[in-house]
Amino acid sequence: MRRRTFLAASTATATAAFLPPAALAQAGNPLLEPWRGPFGGVPAFDKVRVADLKPALEAAMAEELREIDAIAGAGAAPTFANTLEALEKTGEALDRVRTVYGVWTGTLSTPEVRAIDKEMSPRMAAHGDAILQNARLFERIDAVYRQRGSLKLTPEQDRVLWLRWNSFVRNGAKLSPQAKARVAEINKELAQAFTAFSQNLLHDETERDLFLGAGDLAGLPADVRAGMAAQAQGKGRPGEFVIVNTRSSVDPVLTYAERRDLREKVWKTFYSRGDNGDAYDNNRLISRILKLRAERAKLFGYPTHAHWRLADNSMAETPDAAMALMMRVWPAAVARVKEEVAEMQAIADKEGAGIRIAPWDYRFYAEKVRVARYDLDMNAVKPYLQLEKLREGMFWAAGQLYGFSFHPVTVPVQHPDVRVWEVKRGARHVGLWYFDPYARAGKRSGAWMNAYRPQHRLGAAATTTIVSNNSNFVKGPPGAPVLISWDDAETMFHEFGHALHGLNSNVTYPSVSGTRVFRDYVEFPSMVNESWLRTPEVLNRFALHHETGQPIPADLVAKIEKAATFRQGFDVTEFLASALIDMKLHLAGDADIDPDAFERAELAKLGMPAELPMRHRTPQFGHVFSSDGYSAGYYSYLWAEVIALDAVEAFREAPGGLYDKGVAQRLHDNVMSVGNAIHPRDGYRKFRGRDPDVKAYLKDKGFPTG
Ligand SMILES: [Zn+2]
Repeated sequence: MRRRTFLAASTATATAAFLPPAALAQAGNPLLEPWRGPFGGVPAFDKVRVADLKPALEAAMAEELREIDAIAGAGAAPTFANTLEALEKTGEALDRVRTVYGVWTGTLSTPEVRAIDKEMSPRMAAHGDAILQNARLFERIDAVYRQRGSLKLTPEQDRVLWLRWNSFVRNGAKLSPQAKARVAEINKELAQAFTAFSQNLLHDETERDLFLGAGDLAGLPADVRAGMAAQAQGKGRPGEFVIVNTRSSVDPVLTYAERRDLREKVWKTFYSRGDNGDAYDNNRLISRILKLRAERAKLFGYPTHAHWRLADNSMAETPDAAMALMMRVWPAAVARVKEEVAEMQAIADKEGAGIRIAPWDYRFYAEKVRVARYDLDMNAVKPYLQLEKLREGMFWAAGQLYGFSFHPVTVPVQHPDVRVWEVKRGARHVGLWYFDPYARAGKRSGAWMNAYRPQHRLGAAATTTIVSNNSNFVKGPPGAPVLISWDDAETMFHEFGHALHGLNSNVTYPSVSGTRVFRDYVEFPSMVNESWLRTPEVLNRFALHHETGQPIPADLVAKIEKAATFRQGFDVTEFLASALIDMKLHLAGDADIDPDAFERAELAKLGMPAELPMRHRTPQFGHVFSSDGYSAGYYSYLWAEVIALDAVEAFREAPGGLYDKGVAQRLHDNVMSVGNAIHPRDGYRKFRGRDPDVKAYLKDKGFPTG
């Protein structure tokens, strides 16, 4: 189970005073029309013109502000119906336009789209803040909140009320006008610092290419060389090979390149991003961001930014709880690193390399250990992993677990590669699943899920959900099967887990629907779903050789299973080092922080092994410093993975194993269908009968559980 991105981090922090223009005449802008057609309406992707995006966003924001003003200025006494329920119904036009906007910025980007994005992102963030800072609106929410004991609300209504009230209070609704003004100033300065941080990082990733000749590539596999050659050609240097200063380009070099001086050079360039003492150095920006965050947290009434971020906004609730979990795992991970290093050093010594393992040697010698110890050639696995067969396997497993069936349908799509399935349970329509599998220019890298429309039951007819999965597989020739790696297959099941979280949603209010849950909980359903790939039921039926049609041999599966704990010392330690430093930086209050010195001192205190780096060193930690996104929140991946593996253990303990109907029903009833309508801690307790236990996680990593 790996860490993956789910949705782009929110940058909703800017509070620049933005007043939307008066509603424009929008006749003829199809983006503002309600969705029409079958299944309660579908996005009119076939009618999108990029030139319509900006005016549609402006008009939809203006419309939402009118809706909000109507609620805030209502004459009648505030009630749940005329305030909270009314708020749930606002912004529908903006949601529709943002869905289209997100598809175009994420998968069909052009310079024209990027220019619109650059202009509109801060304006949309400010739009969100304008609503959160609407004092008259908060007064009405607060009035309902104060009466909540006597209102006879349903549990879901009670939760919706608390979440809404809490989001206003957390963002300063109760502050004095002076304090609110200061928060707005801080947010504005932070937004500028985030942008500067990202642009510095982007510079160091895109402007530090290393060009090589064919003689420099010893050890690199043919497909890696081909990729490097194609990129060099794209940069106008045919016949050469380029290493771009990004993780996907650097990792294979560190894993396979036999030239140690090349590995060292590439490693140092990559881990120095944002930290070169030049015009693109991020250290001063980080110090400033930390100061501003600490000041804002104090204004909000919290001791530190970490306390503010987690309180009433996470399953962990407190930095202490997050730290305790990380420190529970840390010693085992570091101990495993020592074992891994010893094993690698032995190989290096046997080869007469005459070196001590350094950070630029870790991946290289680990790979030699993998081959020697597990005899596993991942290239032998690939012929059994056909994209379309595995998709059928995901469908089949979802049928077993949740009773879903999938039926291809024809509706307007944004690109000819996109296909759509209707999802049903029995005869009943559940939702739509859009699948956009292939890489293309203008599509961001990686894999992710989006909800185009959340499930809810507000309004005359119930609204069913529309979800999508997106990835970057390389499209083969027409008719040829697309073969993917084991890693990619796990990612497919992971992202489909997010989709199933949306498709299973069964709530009344859209704000708590599907994947709209706490950050340290949202990766749990998706990580759980990775487990069904590895079941014999899926592999024997769907992991079929593309030429012979034979299922993947059992001994190959056994090797994959056996190698599952390979290099976990490295993987967990590099992740935890980043997560711990993130938390410590945001627990340090308003102290003056020199990031470089802080990182060195704290890692030394933790006993960080010298043979590997943090996954993200502070000057390049975009999760934390290019937005508030994962600040004091990088631990979330560990938190969710612990829950996910504990949940899988519940299946393993049951008579039916991973296909146990009873456990699947409990997962559905208390996790997959409830969204954020109940507190995740309570939902998990109902599913498992207790709180999550870290033991299953430790076992999965091959760490001691005692
Ligand atoms: Zn995910």
